[in-house]
Parts: sequence; C-alpha cells; structure tokens
Amino acid sequence: MRHIAIIGSGPAGYYTAEAAQKKFGDDVAIDILDRLPVPFGLIRFGVAPDHQSIKAVSRRYEKVALTDNVRFVGNVSVGKDVSIEELQGLYDAVVLATGAPNDRELTIDGAELAGVYGSAAFVGWYNGHPDFKDLNPPLDGKDVVVIGNGNVALDVARILSKTCSEFEGSDIVAHALETIAASKIENITFLGRRGPHQIAMTPKELGELGRLEKACPRVDMGDFPPEGDDAMLEPGMRKAVTHLREFGGITESHRVDKKIDINFDFFASPLTINGDGKVESVTVEKTRLDQDLRSQGTGETYDIKASLVVSCIGYQTPPIEGVPYEHGRGRFANDEGRILPGLYCVGWARRGPSGTIGTNRPDGYAIVDLLAEDMSASATKNGRAGLDDILASRHVNVVTFRDWKKIEEAEHANARDGSPREKFVDIEAMIAASQI
Ligand code: NAP
Repeated sequence: MRHIAIIGSGPAGYYTAEAAQKKFGDDVAIDILDRLPVPFGLIRFGVAPDHQSIKAVSRRYEKVALTDNVRFVGNVSVGKDVSIEELQGLYDAVVLATGAPNDRELTIDGAELAGVYGSAAFVGWYNGHPDFKDLNPPLDGKDVVVIGNGNVALDVARILSKTCSEFEGSDIVAHALETIAASKIENITFLGRRGPHQIAMTPKELGELGRLEKACPRVDMGDFPPEGDDAMLEPGMRKAVTHLREFGGITESHRVDKKIDINFDFFASPLTINGDGKVESVTVEKTRLDQDLRSQGTGETYDIKASLVVSCIGYQTPPIEGVPYEHGRGRFANDEGRILPGLYCVGWARRGPSGTIGTNRPDGYAIVDLLAEDMSASATKNGRAGLDDILASRHVNVVTFRDWKKIEEAEHANARDGSPREKFVDIEAMIAASQI
C-alpha cells in the first residue's frame, strides 16, 4: 500500500487524488488535509458567488472524495496540529496543494490605511471565508479604486455593481449581500499599469461587465492602439479587446439609468494612497510601455477620490517553515513539483497563481507521474493510522467528508429563496452542524 498525504482540499488537491486513484488503483490510501472543516478551497472561497457553473466542478471532486481510498481530514492545521516532518515520516509522499491564498503585497505608501484591502480578504469576505467574515468594508462612500487588470479585479468590480436581483441563484453570503445592497457606490475605477492590449482579463468575464443592470463600463478610446493592431493578438485576447472597444461605443443615453460608472484607467499606476486615518484618494502616475512592454512611469500624476481601495495584483503561497520557498515568485522552490525527497507541490503552490481551475488537472496528473517514478512499491509507512494516533493524542476535532455532508445539508436548509446555500462563516458553527 502507498500512503499519500495531500495538504489542501482545493482543485489541485482533488485532481491529484483523482490521478493517484487512477494510477495506483486499490494500492493507495490518500488523506486530504485541510485547516478548515469544509472542503474545496478556491471553489468555495475564491470563485465568485455568481459563477455557480464554475463552482459545479466540486461535484467531480465529491466523486473522488466518496471513494474508499480517499479521506478528507478537515479542521487539521499542518504546522500546528501536525508538522510536515511528522507527515513525511508517516506517508510515502506529502503533496502541498495549498494554493496561493495570500495577497501579493502592495508596497506603496498608504497601503496600510483603513479602507484598503487585498483581494484575498475582500473576496474572502463576500465568499464567507471565516478569516474575513468581520472585514466590514466601507461601501458607504461613492468612489472605489480597484488596482489590477486581471479576472479577480473584474470579479470585485462586478460583485460591487450588482443589484440584489442579479445575485439570485448565487451563494453570496448574507452579510455581504446586505452591505452591497445598501452601498452608495457611484464610481469604480480600475487602475491598469499597462494598456488595453496587456490586460489579464478573459473575454467571457469581461463581457459580463457590459450587461449589468445598474452599472456601465467606460473606456477612453485614446488609450487604444490602432484597431488593426488587434489582429496580432491571440484569439482570446482579441475577443477581450473587442469587448473593451464595444464599451468605448456605449452612448451617454444608454448610461442614463446606470448609477455606477466602471472606469478603465489604462497606463495608470498607483503611486500613493492618501488619507487621514482612512483612505481618501489615490495618486496615480501615468505610464507608458517600454520596448519589452513593461510599464514605465512618466512623472505625470493625477489624483482620484477613493473611499475604498481593493488591490487585485495577484496572490502568493504562504511559506511553511523548513520548506524551501521562492520569495520572488511567491511559491515553493521546486523542480517540476519535486521539493525534497518525499515532498512535492502542485497547482498554484507549484507554479504560482495563474490559469483556470482546469489548469490544475494536468498539474495533478503530472505530479502523480512523478510520485510513481519516485515511490517504491514496497512502501512500509504507517500512513493514516499513524496520523489518527497523533491527532487523537492532541485532541484535534477532525471533520470527515461525512461530517462535511451534514454541514452542507444545513447550509442548503438555511438558504434564502433562489440561493443554493447560506454558508456558515464561523468555524464553530460549521463544527456544530457537523455533529448533529
Ligand atoms: P492576474 O491575472 O495575474 O492579474 C494581476 C493584475 O495585477 C495584472 O493586471 C497586473 O498587471 C496587475 N499588477 C500586478 N502587480 C501590480 C502592481 N504592483 N501595480 C499595479 N498593477 C499590478 O491575477 P488575478 O486577477 O489575481 O488572477 C489570478 C488567476 O486566477 C488568473 O489566472 C486569473 O485568470 C484566474 N481567475 C480566473 C477567474 C475566471 O476565470 N472567472 C476569476 C478570477 C481569477 P501586469 O500585467 O502589468 O503585471
């Protein structure tokens, strides 16, 4: 029997488990550990609550989770309840599938002011992550600045712009829905430090911005290269830029009923965030592209009002003591997923925060190919029996997949009309529901 521990129950974790089942059949026991009592990581806490079709992929992970040789070991914090070294002693392979839940740091003056958030916290707040349930962001001002031109920036702007009826069918948590419904927002400004041809937004998600009930995107066509240059873009990017050009054609009469303006400020890099105790404005430096398409400051600045700033400039994997880490890239130092003998990483923890959910599937299969090369068939490790002994001796309240199904059932029962679930946002409430 081969024993594999996977740390993290998000997409990379479950695709790795699926691949290991396929590769080793009955000759493997896989434990998926998560510090939270609920599985699926990014699917539950990262994917936007109004993108339920993307979240539906968790059904595929559930099939894996419900097989005999895979176990969910929830509410277990690696580094606190059990150490990496202990896991390495118990399992033939330990795979870090910890994702990239920490923000890439915004290092400008004023980033520490009240009202400035990283996207991890902000997205976590509207998705009911227990760590961010009390964030209480100020949505009572008129002006929001969203830093970044990626899909997370798009998610944040769209969620802030929707009406209650547009959230029908979503699982946005009640505290966020109430705050957004009462919001006074009138302007949302994306700051993109490069131009329309350098956005990291994908066409489907960008297109949604043009179909909002009470918000309308606005671009300055002066920021665009000649239309003929779009032909040089790869097809997805060309489609995205076509959406941007369409936004440029929106007439003022179409905007009359739209309370919220969503502005794209291109060639705009945040220089400082200003305010007395809390954010009041952002000083922006105009940029231009150099030969390598990197942004360069021009020295020309302007200020925009801001009562809320959300920095959506990417994520990083939290380091783990004793595990080699690549600080510049915010991920574990690894060679194709190998970190140290018996220790691997996969998904965002391996390659950094890029790609779609589906990108993690080939990643999971590739790491299992490496495990198969490295692991001897006559393994004699203690595996889950050893883990159970350690956790019992430390009185850790483990949440199993069966327990999670009880939490899920209670979340379904608590759902408001038209919503699939009302998530528990407290760990204690999750555990209480699991014990009914
Ligand atoms: P991202 O795609 O890497 O975008 C980050 C953005 O931040 C880029 O526009 C980048 O500009 C900008 N940026 C980085 N550092 C900056 C700085 N110091 N100052 C100003 N701007 C800065 O990251 P993300 O939006 O967090 O998304 C992470 C991954 O999840 C991506 O692969 C994304 O596609 C995926 N995702 C997908 C969906 C979906 O499919 N629905 C939803 C959410 C996220 P530069 O290009 O100039 O560096």
